[in-house]
Amino acid sequence: MVHPSELLPSEVWNHVFSYLSEAEKSCVRVACTYFRKLIDHPSLWRNWSVVLDFPNGSYYPFFWETLRRRKITGVVLRTSKSKHIEDVAWSLPGLTTLVMEGCDAANLECLKSFKNLKSLAIRSADVVHLSMVSQPEQLTHLSLCNLPYIGTYETISAVTQFTNLASLSLHVITWGIPFSKIRCILASLPKLKHLALHVSFPRSSRDDFDVSEPNASQLTSLELFAMSYPLPENAMKLMPKLKRLTMYYKDGPQERPGNRPQSVMSKWLSDLHELSTLVIVEGPLVKEYVASIPATLMDLTLRISKFSLEDMVAVAAQTPNLQRLHLDTWPSHLGVNVSQIPKLFPKLKRLAIRFAHVPEKNFLDLHQLQDLEILEILDSHPDLPVLVQRLRILTRYRLRVLIPPYQRDVLSCLCVSGMYC
Ligand SMILES: [Zn+2]
Repeated sequence: MVHPSELLPSEVWNHVFSYLSEAEKSCVRVACTYFRKLIDHPSLWRNWSVVLDFPNGSYYPFFWETLRRRKITGVVLRTSKSKHIEDVAWSLPGLTTLVMEGCDAANLECLKSFKNLKSLAIRSADVVHLSMVSQPEQLTHLSLCNLPYIGTYETISAVTQFTNLASLSLHVITWGIPFSKIRCILASLPKLKHLALHVSFPRSSRDDFDVSEPNASQLTSLELFAMSYPLPENAMKLMPKLKRLTMYYKDGPQERPGNRPQSVMSKWLSDLHELSTLVIVEGPLVKEYVASIPATLMDLTLRISKFSLEDMVAVAAQTPNLQRLHLDTWPSHLGVNVSQIPKLFPKLKRLAIRFAHVPEKNFLDLHQLQDLEILEILDSHPDLPVLVQRLRILTRYRLRVLIPPYQRDVLSCLCVSGMYC
């Protein structure tokens, strides 16, 4: 029998394997020792993270050896045993990213053993204090989600000790963070580029927000969660360099008739002259803010149940340079309006839509998008594979079509995907 190394050089095998899914790579790996060595090459596991839940107690030494060979740098830990956490620190000294789920205060003491940590996420944990990272200045990314025993003010005072943070996410903190505290966070963390906040209800009808002395915030990305009440209209004056704005509204305006979040949205968009990415989940009707969307926008995500053809035309008029569009109107449907997308957004390179209730002809009309490189389908349908193949033929196989099921990034927060999906 011919040895695989005589059939193809290892670089070519490596390239072939780069097209395989994680499950497929696992199958190839058990074929022979030569393939096992090739499959474990670090280039095939770049940006891959592993979930460690210790189902049968400690892992065997060869398991850690495999992870070290692949140069794994990100781990999700689902264990409440400090011994397991110490095992990870000792076995994978090169770890730079750690997600801890369901841990307690004693577990957090083990963080001192991770000497190269740069990114830390703590989720659904029974911890009562956050003063546990031995070298807080080393962290550049910090995410805290669902920590029921930690108060708002303790959270803020704890996170501001991480003076080199470039990214900070505070999700589902007991009472949320008052919006006005953004100013304090930005002042304490001068290198912050990305901030994600679950904001709380203000005590007054409008949270006080003083921008009389704007600081030199370097923030380029802001995510706000669960907003269903008035926010300060002048807030964007403090963050003029924002390139990405994400707004997760708790519900649409029709469910909270007393509030008008749309007025804030319109004002905020008017103040963001460098905005290139906008993500809006539910919230006000599109017609309430569409005229304020800046023409600099390249990437738009709308997850909104009420979206008419008039809305689509108005959005297109405001975004002449749009290259990426993610349009999800579930539980309503785009239907025949899909046929208008090539005319309204001719520069699209990436498009994400649902397939349900889109007539076959209108779906195939998407081949008119001359620059489209990736089409992402957000739902499943038995007819989809056949139609996708026809669409690919119409585009001379230029188009790459992604269909469900999608693999979730294990490092990402479930609370965010839960709000979106
Ligand atoms: Zn979260």
